[in-house]
Amino acid sequence: MVRRILLFYKYVNINNVQEVCDWMKATCTGLDLKGRVILATEGINATLAGSVEATTLFVKIMEAHPLFKKIDFKDSIEDSTHEYFPRLRVVVKNEIVRMDIDPSHVTVQDTGKHLTPEQTHKLLTNKPEDLVVLDGRNYYEARVGHFEGAIKPEIQYFRQFPEYIDQNLELFKDKQVLMYCTGGIRCERASAYLKLKGVAKEVFQIKGGIHRYVEKFPNGFFRGKNYVFDDRIEVGINNDVVGTCDLCQVSYDSYTNCLNAQCNKHFICCPECMQKFAETCSAECQQLVADGKVPVRPPLRITKRDFCLAV
Ligand SMILES: [Zn+2]
Ligand SMILES: [Zn+2]
Repeated sequence: MVRRILLFYKYVNINNVQEVCDWMKATCTGLDLKGRVILATEGINATLAGSVEATTLFVKIMEAHPLFKKIDFKDSIEDSTHEYFPRLRVVVKNEIVRMDIDPSHVTVQDTGKHLTPEQTHKLLTNKPEDLVVLDGRNYYEARVGHFEGAIKPEIQYFRQFPEYIDQNLELFKDKQVLMYCTGGIRCERASAYLKLKGVAKEVFQIKGGIHRYVEKFPNGFFRGKNYVFDDRIEVGINNDVVGTCDLCQVSYDSYTNCLNAQCNKHFICCPECMQKFAETCSAECQQLVADGKVPVRPPLRITKRDFCLAV
C-alpha cells in the first residue's frame, strides 16, 4: 500500500492548546491519518501517515490555519505492506520535545543562527580552525550516522543534553559551534540553551537538520544513516556504514531489539549474530528464551534499507 508520511514541527505560541488538540484530533480522524501529534503551548511536533490525497488536503488545511502557516513539511512515500503507524495519538504536553526545561526559560527566541544546507556545506568545506561540530541527538542515533568529526554526546535522552552542556562547557569556549539534529526541532532549543551559557563565540544550527542537508548533499559531510523515531528506525542516505555490531564488532548499522521482551535491549546486530544468538542480545537472553522462561517480543518488520527520506 502506498502511504505518504509527513514530518513537521513548528514553534509557535498556542494559548488554547486543548482546543487546538481537539481540532487536530477531529481533522486527522476525518482524513484517516495515523501517527502521533504532540502539542504544547510552545508549538506542534508531528509524524502523520495517510494516502497521498489525504495528506495533500491536510497540508492545505494547515496552511489555512492562522497558527500553522509556513510549516516546512518533510515527506516520504512508502510502499509497503507494513503498517508503520497503526494508530493516531494526539496529545498535549509541556514541551514538543522533552528537554525538561520550562519552555518559558529557554525559548526559540534565543535560538542559534540558522544555516541553509548550502551555507552549512560551504562552512564545512572551508572549515575554520575554531569550528566545533556538535551532534544534538542521542548517542545511539549518532552511532549509525553523523557529520564528519562531530562531537557525539554520550546521552540516551534529549533531556540529558542540558546537563551534558553544563559539564562540557570548555569544549565550546570561544568556539564557533555548528549544531545539528535529525530534522531541526531539537536544535531550536538546544542551541538556545548553549547560547544562553555565553561561552561559545557563535552558535549555528542546520535549518531542516540532517534531513534537508542530505537531500541537497547526499555525498557531502554526513556519513552513514539518519536514525528516525518510527518503525523505519534508520534511513539510508549513501552506502557508508559507520556503526558496528554490538556482539561481534563487525561493521554494521541496523538496530534490533532483544527477542527477550523483558530485556528489550535496543542494539546493533549483524545478520550472522542475529542467527547465532537467535535474535537475542546475549547467550543469557538466548537461554531464557529457549527455556521459555520469559515472554518474547512480537516479530520485527522486515528491514527496508532504501527509504528516501527521514524526519
Ligand atoms: Zn555481529
Ligand atoms: Zn537481551
